[in-house]
Amino acid sequence: MPQKVISIRPRSSGAVPPAPHYDGAALADTLGRAMRDLRISVTDRCNFRCVYCMPREVFDANYKFLPHAAILSFEEITRLATIFVRLGVKKIRLTGGEPLLRKDLPRLIAMLAPLGIDLTLTTNGSTLIKHARPLKEAGLERITVSLDSLDEATFQRMNDAEFPVAKVLEGIDAAAAAGLGPVKINMVVKRGVNDAQVLDMARHWRGTGHIVRFIEYMDVGSTNGWRMDEVVPSGEIVRRIGERFPLEPAEANYAGEVAERWRYRDGAGEIGVISSVTQAFCRDCNRMRLSTEGSLYTCLFAQQGFDLKSLLRDGASDDAIRDHVAAVWRRRADRYSELRSAQTANLPKVEMSYIGG
Ligand code: SAM
Repeated sequence: MPQKVISIRPRSSGAVPPAPHYDGAALADTLGRAMRDLRISVTDRCNFRCVYCMPREVFDANYKFLPHAAILSFEEITRLATIFVRLGVKKIRLTGGEPLLRKDLPRLIAMLAPLGIDLTLTTNGSTLIKHARPLKEAGLERITVSLDSLDEATFQRMNDAEFPVAKVLEGIDAAAAAGLGPVKINMVVKRGVNDAQVLDMARHWRGTGHIVRFIEYMDVGSTNGWRMDEVVPSGEIVRRIGERFPLEPAEANYAGEVAERWRYRDGAGEIGVISSVTQAFCRDCNRMRLSTEGSLYTCLFAQQGFDLKSLLRDGASDDAIRDHVAAVWRRRADRYSELRSAQTANLPKVEMSYIGG
């Protein structure tokens, strides 16, 4: 049972010293990693209470979500995104919380689409039937839908919101019909909870063109009571699926791609595995995260972000903000997953729903 925590949001990064002037050179951090992907959390709220992400014991009726005034407006998000793109970001993923709970999200999509980046979104799919077409029309290109099981009882035990599988499946169909496919489907695998459904999930989506990605259960945040023995190593997942439907490795689409690709030998498509626990990929990590309230994180496991919202709201120029972002990236040295150990695993960490999954 996860313990009640007093504060699961990070400390503020405090007063901001001036950043060195950005010289225009390609950005690389202290480990030589380039900046490529930005994930933006557009809300810290969610209508699910997934046991591994926003457990109901913590995110209950008394939980204080961010007030509207504290979260970045669409104009602020777009201004920051434009600065990031000028610094080299090629892909933006909107996430949360549940991004489709943010009112009028297609308006934000329409504001970001002209940036010409790979624009995508991760959702629990619960409202996609309604939202798929407006999202596509606003300029969204692709979508990822989380679905942890096709078995009703297991899925509802995991989402802890009595949400039925059928509605998510209809949402995936709606996304494909709107032109947002092929859809990526994320399944977080927890041993003893839904790992018995791995093969069913693979079988269901084989041959559809959609791509299931099996995700190792991660020790993000401090509220999910994570234990290593609940992680199913992706090697085991590939072996289990491959015994039934033979697989072969496929090339990454680009350097630093999070999922490792495997294709069915009979041509029925591909799956992905995300092995952030058993085969940490920090050395290729090219991601940053912008939290709902405008703090910038270079690691999912960070304890502290860099407060961009204060710069925005204190009237900083685009150039000044750009200098800070460049400096944050250049001094980046984190590689939490590679260093994961008894000590680091017990540090208080920022929740995924806040920082953006
Ligand atoms: N609400 C949206 C959704 O459900 O997809 C977006 C936010 S959610 C935090 C983004 C992704 O993070 C989901 O695919 C979710 O399953 C995954 N996730 C959350 N907690 C996780 C954990 N402890 N380990 C692995 N993946 C996790």
